[in-house]
Amino acid sequence: MILILIGPPGAGKGTQCKRLVDRYKLKHLSSGDIFRTEIASETEIGITAKKFIDDGKLVPDEIVIEMMTKAVRAAGDCILDGFPRTVNQARSLDEALEKDGCPVKAVVVLKVDDEIVAQRLTNRRVCLHCGASFHLQHSKPAVDGVCDACKSKLIHRDDDKAEVISKRLATYHKQTEPIVEYYNSSGKVVLTVDAGGNIDEITKVLISQIDNI
Ligand code: AMP
Repeated sequence: MILILIGPPGAGKGTQCKRLVDRYKLKHLSSGDIFRTEIASETEIGITAKKFIDDGKLVPDEIVIEMMTKAVRAAGDCILDGFPRTVNQARSLDEALEKDGCPVKAVVVLKVDDEIVAQRLTNRRVCLHCGASFHLQHSKPAVDGVCDACKSKLIHRDDDKAEVISKRLATYHKQTEPIVEYYNSSGKVVLTVDAGGNIDEITKVLISQIDNI
């Protein structure tokens, strides 16, 4: 089973995916996490991707599509977080999966207002080692700057800083939102969930909707 989670940066895709993978026994594939690993390892993909990521832009389709279709094929049943992000990526993914006889099962869209996104990202601190995420007001780490789970250093991602957030949101509205129409018109199950509130409540709604399919 392949599920896709779509939403603006800061919608809680990563947080909700971690909860959903436990329940549905799926792998979590985050394109952003894969890029951050490539960047940390200073690979060719990482060096190219970094320029786009730091500027709040999408990494070009040809790089993402090859990297992610390979990763999806290797993972099997999974939840995709952050991919696809353009209609071209969605179409290429469909083509690859249909060849494999394993089409996308459902697309979940997390809806959040831009103001809430900006507030969440400005306060977000992440652990690059284990992927845990904290909020400086609502879910503070026990020790300032240190990950509760693995004790690594927490960082404020460069692309979570105010000057980049508005660019990322504009990119989301222009390039990623049209995917929803693409999936609707291709007859896929599309679930839309309000993700502006409490994390546990959002998980409950997600689970009840996904259980239905
Ligand atoms: P994320 O952690 O999902 O917010 O991704 C961080 C950044 O990685 C994004 O702002 C993009 O620059 C890049 N990125 C991640 N996934 C994709 C994708 N599917 N297509 C293009 N760029 C991506």
